[in-house]
Amino acid sequence: MNHPAQANGGSRPLQDRFGRRIDYLRVSVTDRCDLRCQYCRPRHFDGYAEPEDWLTPLEIERVVAAFARLGVGRVRITGGEPLLRRNIGGIVASLATLPGVHDLSLSTNATQLTRHAAALKQAGLHRLNISLDSLDRECVADLYGRDSYDAVMAGIMAGKAAGLVPIKINMVAMRDVNEHEIERMAAFCLDNGFILRLIEAMPIGEAGRNASYLPLDGVRERLIERFDLEPCARELGGGPARYWQTRDGRGQIGFITPISQHFCATCNRVRLAVDGTLYLCLGQEARFELRPLLRAGIDDCSLDAAIREAIELKPERHEFIEAPGRIMRFMSQTGG
Ligand code: SAM
Repeated sequence: MNHPAQANGGSRPLQDRFGRRIDYLRVSVTDRCDLRCQYCRPRHFDGYAEPEDWLTPLEIERVVAAFARLGVGRVRITGGEPLLRRNIGGIVASLATLPGVHDLSLSTNATQLTRHAAALKQAGLHRLNISLDSLDRECVADLYGRDSYDAVMAGIMAGKAAGLVPIKINMVAMRDVNEHEIERMAAFCLDNGFILRLIEAMPIGEAGRNASYLPLDGVRERLIERFDLEPCARELGGGPARYWQTRDGRGQIGFITPISQHFCATCNRVRLAVDGTLYLCLGQEARFELRPLLRAGIDDCSLDAAIREAIELKPERHEFIEAPGRIMRFMSQTGG
């Protein structure tokens, strides 16, 4: 395992103009998905990136290698649904061996995971984030537009059996949709050794704006009482989730509150979309196009400089509350 400081040869860490250290990259390998989550993608959407605009595996590797040289050691592969990208195992393998990448995870809806779990582990993937909003078959079908319950549950267990742990389960908590299932989901995760992370729905794109927002403060109070939680003694994950743990040591539950208690002041991440667009903030349009540079034959040194230039564009904060209609693209286009 390489440490980022070794890989970047002691060069200046990647920092934005607000003094935030950038050390986390999300890499979308496709904008396609086999589910249509109500809060993510509009039902009749068909404006996907053209295949000739998708970064090739080699281009993805070059960009991630450049970020790693600049001290970005945590990388999460995402989408769309990343397991739909052809030769995802090869992409994982190429990123897993990059100097400086010390935490390589993948975010999936788990529908295809039974087929891929062992190979992903073999390719060098460290761990999984799995999206699961409900344990109720009908609710899953309704939310995801397809009866995927059995495939998802089998996929989750295959990921666990393959040792892609710790597995974090991401649940977008929504009023009147799955709010009543939160305790059940927490018990399921604690029983299986998964780390539940509850997430507030964000007004990203038309679908996100129509999602039924539920602030998590009340939910947290409920769970503290029900599962006898206390704040986690040590920081987990290095991201925006605030973790609580059961006093009996069974496990942790995280709360991600981009709306009710935003964490922009400590935002440490940027997102690379499948077409090579670098998005600097989920809730703003700020972006930087890397594909034209890659295809024009940019050298490594200039690529590093271009990334530094891009980071200068990172906005101070999202404006989901002040301007909820601003972001037209949706999560699986950006790379969630
Ligand atoms: N398909 C993969 C998965 O299911 O994890 C990766 C892509 S998916 C877009 C990444 C995450 O974004 C999922 O956990 C999903 O729940 C979340 N997401 C999508 N739209 C959202 C929204 N409007 N608000 C909050 N989270 C959202």
